[in-house]
Amino acid sequence: MPSPAKIALIGIGKIAVDQHVPAISASPDWALAATVSRKGTIDGVESFTTIEAMLEARPDIPVVSLALPPVPRYAYAEAALRAGRHVMLEKPPGATLAEIHALQGLASGKGLTLYATWHSRMARAVAPAKAWLTHKTIIRAHITWREDVRKWHPGQDWVFEPGGMGVFDPGINALSILTEILPIPVHLTGATLTFPENRQTPIAAALGFSGNVTADFDWRQEGPQTWDITVETPDGTLALRMGGSVLEIDGKPTLGEADIMGEYPALYARMADLTPKGTSDVDLAPMVHVADALTIGRREFTEAFHF
Ligand code: NAP
Repeated sequence: MPSPAKIALIGIGKIAVDQHVPAISASPDWALAATVSRKGTIDGVESFTTIEAMLEARPDIPVVSLALPPVPRYAYAEAALRAGRHVMLEKPPGATLAEIHALQGLASGKGLTLYATWHSRMARAVAPAKAWLTHKTIIRAHITWREDVRKWHPGQDWVFEPGGMGVFDPGINALSILTEILPIPVHLTGATLTFPENRQTPIAAALGFSGNVTADFDWRQEGPQTWDITVETPDGTLALRMGGSVLEIDGKPTLGEADIMGEYPALYARMADLTPKGTSDVDLAPMVHVADALTIGRREFTEAFHF
């Protein structure tokens, strides 16, 4: 593909405007050539309201990036792959595991790239944390992921609809880091899920995994937000704070102020590596844990939630 390559961005909402458009605009690899959204548009960029219209009108655009919520995303991804376009998926990669398997089959059959992104894995301290933990024994690990749903998903009722995943929408970011940095895989052994009495998805979750790994997700935290993972080893305790951007070993910060790429620029750089070869990058480990929690979790109910 010539560089910069043309890309279409689909689902012009909060994350598209906050992160995708700035990352594409600043990238040497990509040129934003079209958008697809029922209402949203970007100034100066050709816009379509259906993917079918965009695919038909713009055969010159080889790559699409889907910034939609997970439930509607599959139909868009399938249409794009069937039309011979490479596809980049926001997290969580879909509403079900089986639909991602279907997309994987479609992409590999056509030699196209399917990239299931995990933006939190691109946070600056994640790779150093993974390197520090390599070959170490894990005594225990704990995730505390507590944020304010009204701040990050203002008015987004889809997060509380079936397939919206509730507190697992942010929690899966923590699980994407956990599954990246731990030297051995873990599996879920138990969960308690707290559902608002008027909603379909949990607003809080307490998870237990093999290997003494636990997690506490809560969407009701106002004020300072907490996105921490601590991992205890015989050689010291690692803490990842601020969603993977701060690394401490035994309480001491270990990363300087090095200027490294932000999370979304790094995702688009990775997509630029994958597409020329038509290779895929799809790791469903974080979503397996969410699916397992929703399968074996004990349900509790709490007061109704309104935005
Ligand atoms: P959003 O603003 O609610 O939705 C994005 C856009 O998707 C909407 O503006 C809407 O555009 C389109 N859309 C929504 N529902 C649709 C439907 N049923 N059918 C077709 N199009 C639909 O959501 P978001 O916060 O950007 O999140 C999108 C994805 O990014 C999620 O998977 C989320 O986990 C991920 N993400 C979000 C954040 C965050 O801070 N919010 C951070 C990182 C990742 P039109 O109405 O114009 O069609």
